[in-house]
Amino acid sequence: MPKVIGYVECPDCGERCEVREAKTGKPYVVCDECGVQHFYRSKKGIQRLMQRMQRAEPQRKAEPAGAAEAGEGDVLGWL
Ligand SMILES: [Zn+2]
Repeated sequence: MPKVIGYVECPDCGERCEVREAKTGKPYVVCDECGVQHFYRSKKGIQRLMQRMQRAEPQRKAEPAGAAEAGEGDVLGWL
């Protein structure tokens, strides 16, 4: 399975496309709508892609919530 590192709009149709990492370590964009693969081989091209790319966040645990919400109840409890 190719590694998906983020998402960008397709340069052709504007649909959201996956940005994958090639075996060479360089990124390429795959658009199923157009059936194209855009390869980025120059440093500048890759930098521009990274700037407009929405990064695929690795799945992580939800931030601890509730600290702020519990505050009000605690105060009322003291009254
Ligand atoms: Zn497209």
